Amino acid sequence: MEDSGGQEIIDVHCHCFAGMEQFDLVSSGLAKLRNAGVRHMAVMGLVNTHFNSQDIWKLIPEGFDNRGNPLFYEADDLLHFTRENGEMLFPMLDTRCMFGDTPSLLQDYVTRGFRGIKGLYLADEGNDLGLASIPDVFDISLEQYHQREWQIFAFAEANELPVLYHMDANRYGDVMKAILDDFPRLRINFPHFGIGRKAFRQILDRYPNACTDLAYMLPHIQSNPESYCDFISHYQDQVCFGSDALIYQPQIVLDYIELVRSLKLPKEIESKVFSENPRRFLGLTYPRAR
Ligand SMILES: [Zn+2]
Repeated sequence: MEDSGGQEIIDVHCHCFAGMEQFDLVSSGLAKLRNAGVRHMAVMGLVNTHFNSQDIWKLIPEGFDNRGNPLFYEADDLLHFTRENGEMLFPMLDTRCMFGDTPSLLQDYVTRGFRGIKGLYLADEGNDLGLASIPDVFDISLEQYHQREWQIFAFAEANELPVLYHMDANRYGDVMKAILDDFPRLRINFPHFGIGRKAFRQILDRYPNACTDLAYMLPHIQSNPESYCDFISHYQDQVCFGSDALIYQPQIVLDYIELVRSLKLPKEIESKVFSENPRRFLGLTYPRAR
């Protein structure tokens, strides 16, 4: 732990995009991160049993180097990486391409080892990622899409699973509030500061069970550190450490650790961001006396 000064770090937001051929690459990267003080990483794993790769790519932002299963069936490989790496990985099921009976599929994946859920709100083509809408790709109505998402939230709340949900507070603030009003016990992370900090403040102010992460925000934070320091300090119980790194990209996680340290936050706030808030969000209890 010499590099980390004893500080525990938990990354709540990574993606898989790797398969068995990257097993050694993944293991060596995780070992590097462990040495830097990273104790857990939440990794999102996609499942797909229904769509061709062309359709799936309509739902994946550009710039992701998918080295794993070309049809994005990542569940088996991610669970394998998890079993082989001690306590390090916290696998979360990416539901964006999941198709079928939602509660029974979720139950099945949880039984197999998934510990949280990832979603991406793509109600129409006005989403911040410029992706196709799920109603279009799935050929379902907006109402059916909402039913599916609400089944996911209900399952997560009932089973006390954390949900990482990419959603733009600017455009979909009302739907965000509806989720939080309907599921008051749900632990939900709207990443990337809810995309728009101004609109998202209202959400964080009103719903203490909502949190956020700083994944993908590095260039923004670097160009305006004071403003982000204020934001993080103000919402110090709700901001989690996250990187959006792929599971075989340890350097990105290290860059984000450096970024947080460079903000020179008061030590107790830094430790909330690195460790306490991620633990609360993921539902990890503290290890006994260290
Ligand atoms: Zn992400």
